[in-house]
Amino acid sequence: MTMTGAELRIDLQRLRENVRAVRERMAPAEALVVIKDDAYAQGVEPIVAAALDAGAVWFGGIDLDSAVRAKRTAGGRARVLCWMTLSAEEARLGVAEGIELGVGDADYLERAATAPSTATLHLKIDTGLHRNGVRPEAWAAFCARAAELERAGRIRVAGIWTHIAEASDAEDDASRAEFDHAVGIARDAGLTPEMRHLAASAAAWHRPEFRYDLVRIGAFCYGIRSEDGPEIGGTAPISSLVAPVVSVGTDVEVAIGSVDGFPSALAGRTHVATPGGERALVRVDAFTSRVETWPGAAIGDDVILFGPGTRGEPTPTDLGEAIGTVGEEPLLRVSPLVPRVYVG
Ligand SMILES: *Cc1c(COP(=O)(O)O)cnc(C)c1O
Repeated sequence: MTMTGAELRIDLQRLRENVRAVRERMAPAEALVVIKDDAYAQGVEPIVAAALDAGAVWFGGIDLDSAVRAKRTAGGRARVLCWMTLSAEEARLGVAEGIELGVGDADYLERAATAPSTATLHLKIDTGLHRNGVRPEAWAAFCARAAELERAGRIRVAGIWTHIAEASDAEDDASRAEFDHAVGIARDAGLTPEMRHLAASAAAWHRPEFRYDLVRIGAFCYGIRSEDGPEIGGTAPISSLVAPVVSVGTDVEVAIGSVDGFPSALAGRTHVATPGGERALVRVDAFTSRVETWPGAAIGDDVILFGPGTRGEPTPTDLGEAIGTVGEEPLLRVSPLVPRVYVG
């Protein structure tokens, strides 16, 4: 079948296998499948449905929209945590949808406690990243206030969490010690959090002592390995960006969408997979990209810009490495106008 435009092909069977591999590795800790930014621009609903098939019972993300869609898809089959709501209105909406909320500051704790029904919360301690989270010196008072609100029936504290840098083992070890200390303080205040979580893909995969009750896994569920990191056994990229040839001359022109959306810095730094084998990406313009030609190149041929690598194409992380960014970025840059096509 000849394509008339580019497609992001999302292999849901591959996703199920990735989620199974992650869940097996993390057990007995639970794995929360991260679905922020519309499941990294791959579509929350089909991703959540496939991950549920693979046994996932936790989802979570930054934005309320993705979290609400995940909860509506999963219903009672999974818990959903949204960790960056900030306003009383977002808290109210989230609680009404049955979503659990991350709380990283004392004022927001008060706002979350005003929701009409009991808000289920995960309290966040800042263990060194200085992004969001209650500072250690303010933690004891914060926990005391949370315990008071819990006794009053306004909130329930289900979790204590933090986010770590995953830049060096020494820094992560220091964050973990701070985290353990914070959990002790929370328990002394009378809180009984059943979920303690701090690790994302890399720390959770490579350092079992970081798993606790729950790990939050984005990249590895989607087969995106870390920059300069090893391949992750049992996983592979689930998405392929496939664009048609639109003209053939001294080189071959391929078009992703109305606006190309492909990082222009990739020109001259990567290759693509074509019916004639691997070819260099020679130029990225506003509306089309150009690749080296091959014998028999024809309009409508499929060119694979990234994917699992099985046909010679680079993976999203290969592209990230070529231009000094992360493997999530090429995926997130694919225009919403490019159809998402689900296979598997
Ligand atoms: C995005 C995110 C994750 C997932 O990180 P990966 O390295 O992709 O697994 C985990 N925790 C938080 C707070 C995040 O925002």
